[in-house]
Amino acid sequence: MNNEILKIKVKELKIKICSCEIKSEDVIKVCFGYIKKVEPKVKAFLKLNDDQSLKQAEKVDNKLKSGTKCGLLEGIPIGIKDNIMIKGETMTSASKYLENYVSPYDATVIEKLKDAGVIFVGRTNMDEFAMGGSTETSAYQKTANPWNIERIPGGSSGGSAAAVASGMVPFALGSDTGGSVRQPAGFCGIVGYKPSYGLISRYGTCALASSFDQIGTFAKNVTDAALLTSVIAGKDYRDPICEPNECIDYVNDIDNPNSLKTLKIGVPKQIFDYKVDSEISKYFNDAVNKIKLALGEVVEVDIPAYKYVPALYNVIMCAEVSANIATFDGIRYGYRSTNGINLNDEYTKSRAESLGYEVKKRILFGTHVLEAKNYHRCYHQAQKVRTLLINQIIDAYKKCDFIFSPATLQMPVKFGEMLPQECDIFLIAANLAGLPGITVPCSFTSIGMPMGVHFMGTRFSDVKLFKVARLFEKISEFDINKYPTFDLT
Ligand code: GLN
Repeated sequence: MNNEILKIKVKELKIKICSCEIKSEDVIKVCFGYIKKVEPKVKAFLKLNDDQSLKQAEKVDNKLKSGTKCGLLEGIPIGIKDNIMIKGETMTSASKYLENYVSPYDATVIEKLKDAGVIFVGRTNMDEFAMGGSTETSAYQKTANPWNIERIPGGSSGGSAAAVASGMVPFALGSDTGGSVRQPAGFCGIVGYKPSYGLISRYGTCALASSFDQIGTFAKNVTDAALLTSVIAGKDYRDPICEPNECIDYVNDIDNPNSLKTLKIGVPKQIFDYKVDSEISKYFNDAVNKIKLALGEVVEVDIPAYKYVPALYNVIMCAEVSANIATFDGIRYGYRSTNGINLNDEYTKSRAESLGYEVKKRILFGTHVLEAKNYHRCYHQAQKVRTLLINQIIDAYKKCDFIFSPATLQMPVKFGEMLPQECDIFLIAANLAGLPGITVPCSFTSIGMPMGVHFMGTRFSDVKLFKVARLFEKISEFDINKYPTFDLT
């Protein structure tokens, strides 16, 4: 059996495994054989579970042979971002602070995946505590973009994106607080989806900014991202923001465009206020023309508050970071300094010795905006402007069903180079407003790198969002069956 097996759509691979046409054990063997070759170049994983995965696969095969019912994702390998808890396994959030932290329980999404029969092949790299857009703030390693290993994969879920894009796993989980699933998906030429706020439980996920955080899915194609979402979405009494939706099948009707008959796509006029990479601009305009020809009407929408997105996001996200990261005090769990001379000094040194620069910077800024003298002028004001932005977006949806934009305004840079702040504003707006968004690959640019586009829907329009993404996938010139090639000699 060769690597091609890893390129079959998950939906089909599952049928082959469940009918015993292919053994899960063989899939996992091929998967690790390929990972061994590619991983030294890409460095997507912080930890790999070779032996455990093989044992799990054997169990799956025996179970199926004995006629037991096949789970929804039986025997399929998956990568999990290292900020989601799997009971008994370490979860580092790519921080030295949690280097030896062992998860005491399963996150809800992990429970659901275990019930579905997936195989957890490893933990994917990320920016420390998901703070960053390049995966360079990881305390452990830098992950490369599989299409060009001198460039960043994006972040903060860069490990998951790179693992899927390079073909090491067919799908993966990430978390998205300010674009961290959809931005790396765009940079790596795959599909990245963030649900409506409250659609997927965050119980057992390491919090970054709680009023934005959501778990999201990565896959090579829209259908597989929808399939994974069907398994992990739905109510959970342990996450208070999780809405009591019935479990929905996001795949069932995905190829039936009837409900999208009178599709109206809104393009924010604000896109052109920014410096957009010339090729991204060109391919985005081509995509708009294709939509006009094949999918529906395109209208211009006006959301002037987009210009506040970077400031708003920074103030609110850092304020929430300073509160969430306060639990990392060196006393309850995680890294504890041995250099403290009294209790306060021990708190200080535990944090100072184990947290990275980006994390410290955000704690300081968040604490600053929450200080009594700044609270009204900064934090409270930001919350008011957030409401203004949400109202303008709601108004825009009176004219259209989805808001369409490039996923990012720039291409992935080389390691050490900085992206401009406004690069991800069309993604971050979805977090600020609690809306679902999906990145779909669009074209290849002249530097041999992919670029993606982004659809944002109204709250809980996720079923329709997958449909429009699937329609776009069909008319896009991007070949989803193409994978980056590596010099494996
Ligand atoms: N780039 C954003 C940040 O650094 C993304 C964070 C995220 O979505 N986890 O805050």
